[in-house]
Amino acid sequence: MIIHRLEPQGFCKGVIMAIDIAKKSVNDKNIKKPIYMLGALIHNEHIINELKDLGIIIIDDKNKTRLELLDLINDNCGTVIISAHGASDLVYKKIKEKGLDLIDATCPYVKLVHEKIAKKIKDGYDILYIGAKGHPECEGVITNSDKIHLITSSNIIDTYINNDKIYATNQTTLSIYEIDNIYNKIKELYPNTIIDNKICDATTKRQKAVYESPLVDLLIVVGDSRSSNTKKLNDVGIKKGLKTLLIEDVNQIIDYDFNNINSIAITSGASTPSYIVDEIIEYVKKVRP
Ligand code: SF4
Repeated sequence: MIIHRLEPQGFCKGVIMAIDIAKKSVNDKNIKKPIYMLGALIHNEHIINELKDLGIIIIDDKNKTRLELLDLINDNCGTVIISAHGASDLVYKKIKEKGLDLIDATCPYVKLVHEKIAKKIKDGYDILYIGAKGHPECEGVITNSDKIHLITSSNIIDTYINNDKIYATNQTTLSIYEIDNIYNKIKELYPNTIIDNKICDATTKRQKAVYESPLVDLLIVVGDSRSSNTKKLNDVGIKKGLKTLLIEDVNQIIDYDFNNINSIAITSGASTPSYIVDEIIEYVKKVRP
C-alpha cells in the first residue's frame, strides 16, 4: 500500500490556543469554578472528553443556540468558556448579566472577522456574510446586527440590499474552490462591493494539499463530522474526483474493505489530534502492508 500523509496535520494555531486556555483554567485558582464550556470548544470528541475528565462541564445541545445554552447555567455560578468559533455580542452581554465570569477562547482569525464587520457597520456598510447556517462561527456573526445578511451558495439572488456601501466577507473554514464563484455572483449583483475573503491559513493549506495530492485510490479525511473545515476537505477530495472516506478515528475503518485499494492519501481537520492520524496509518499498514 502506498500511503501519502498530506501536510499540514495536527492542530491549527486557533485550536492549540483554545485547548491551552481551557486546560490552564482548570488549575488557575483565580478562576471561579465550576467552568462551563458553551458548546464544543472545538469540534473533536476526543479533546472534549479530555476536557470533561479535567472537570470542565460541557453545555451542549445541537438544537440550541449559544444564547439559549446559557439558560442552562445558573446565575452567579462560575465561569463560561467561549469556544474557538467565537460568539455573538448578545452572548457576551448575557454572560455578564447572569453574573458569570468569562474566558474567551475565540480564534484570533474569527475575532478579526468580527472586528472588521463591526467597523464596516459603523462606517455605514451593509454586510454580506458567506457562511453555513447553524454553524456556531456563523451564528456568532450574523446575530450581531440586522445589517449582516447571511449568504449561502443558493440565496444570493434573493438578497436585496438598498445601500451603495456593501462589504462581503465569510466564515473562515469554507472551501477555497467554491468561494470565488459566490463572490463573483455578488460582484455581478453589487459591483461596488468590497470583497474580503477571510478563509484562514490552516484551512487554505489543507485544502490545497488535498487538491494537489497524487491521484490515489482512496482519500481518508479524519475529523469530526460537525467540523466545517473537515467537511470541506472531503468536498475538495470529491471535487478532485477522488473516492473519499470521512472518519473520526481508527475504529471507523475496522470493517473497511481495502482489497482494491493500492494507494491512499490521508488528511485531517484542524481540530484532529495527530495521534489519531498515526493510529489510522498504522492500522492500514497492518491490514495492507
Ligand atoms: S481552522 Fe482557522 S479559524 Fe478555525 S480555529 Fe483553526 S485557525 Fe482558527
